[in-house]
Amino acid sequence: MLELISHVVKISARRDRTEINSAMVDTLISLFNPQKLTIYRCYAGRKRTVVFACAGYGPHGQFLRNAYLPEHSHCQNIEQDPLLQRCRREMSAVLDVMDDGAHRVVFPVVRLDEPIYLIDLTLSDEFSADQRVALMGLIEYFGNHIALLDYGEADTLTGLANRKTFDKHLFELLGQAATDELLGGLSNAPKRRRGSTSNSSHWLAVCDIDHFKQVNDNFGHLIGDEVLIMLSHVMRQSFRFDDQLFRFGGEEFVALLQPTDPESASATLERFRANVESQIFSRVGHVTISIGFSHLLPHDTPADVIDRADEALYYAKRQGRNRVECYENLIATGKLAAKEIARGEVELF
Ligand code: GH3
Ligand code: MG
Ligand code: MG
Repeated sequence: MLELISHVVKISARRDRTEINSAMVDTLISLFNPQKLTIYRCYAGRKRTVVFACAGYGPHGQFLRNAYLPEHSHCQNIEQDPLLQRCRREMSAVLDVMDDGAHRVVFPVVRLDEPIYLIDLTLSDEFSADQRVALMGLIEYFGNHIALLDYGEADTLTGLANRKTFDKHLFELLGQAATDELLGGLSNAPKRRRGSTSNSSHWLAVCDIDHFKQVNDNFGHLIGDEVLIMLSHVMRQSFRFDDQLFRFGGEEFVALLQPTDPESASATLERFRANVESQIFSRVGHVTISIGFSHLLPHDTPADVIDRADEALYYAKRQGRNRVECYENLIATGKLAAKEIARGEVELF
């Protein structure tokens, strides 16, 4: 009992998904001594559901990955694991007795009728009734704590991640980009992500609704807000599960794309632009957006990359709106002049 409380106190002190997962793994190991344990984040899409093993314990000891940035090599389609799939379908704990007598149980953490986490435990013996109650209580507590965290990280109107979360993610990504660059220089560097090529990198896109003031002026702020909500739905459906989407402020949205080449980034953003253009917004009719984007450089500050994407966005606005422009392309084709950067050097492309 005292041990359980001391673990709950430790989990409750954390404010970051990765750290909460780490504390949860410590707790589950120390209270239940599992043979194997995985905390999966669950991304439900229209076509498929993907799970990301973000923390756990196995034959090689404990592992912990950044819970905000799903790594492709640790993601899988949920169909690949029938027990996980059953848990998602039934949205309740499911059990499988293995050939060696071990018990594998998967618990869902459900939000708005979709599991957002799956907690997968293999124990050498059958659960006692007390163990089961303690475990279910602990997982419910974990879900409540994550819900509170989500509340602080989400924009209240659209449910997309908010500006504060954007700053945190961008700092983490930029830190990772610098580390990748460092590792890239070493002979034992890890392999690049699947699907990424030598010219792939993360991309940041700033998306701004065209003539949104007119929407507010003509239809009022409440209808304007509905447009923002509807736009966030279109945005979610236009990107991959692992691209990070934010409402940056007012009627500006930001997408942080996973590493990909310039053509794929451009095609994704073009698809989003076209999806918005073809969407009928109730009362208002058609709305368009302009997008500017740029790739993340290892030594960028958040302001550097946002400034570049913004420049491309302003160019798109000047060119008549409802278009997607890439900062690096605009520089290469001489449509924009390269900016002097802080160290007094000119960026080269
Ligand atoms: P442009 O094509 O140049 O982007 O034109 P615009 O009218 O969209 O210009 P701008 O981006 O400067 O204006 C943004 C407007 O968005 C101002 C404000 O009326 C509106 N806005 C900002 N935040 C909100 C919000 O939360 N709800 C609503 N309804 N309107 C908002
Ligand atoms: Mg604006
Ligand atoms: Mg605007």
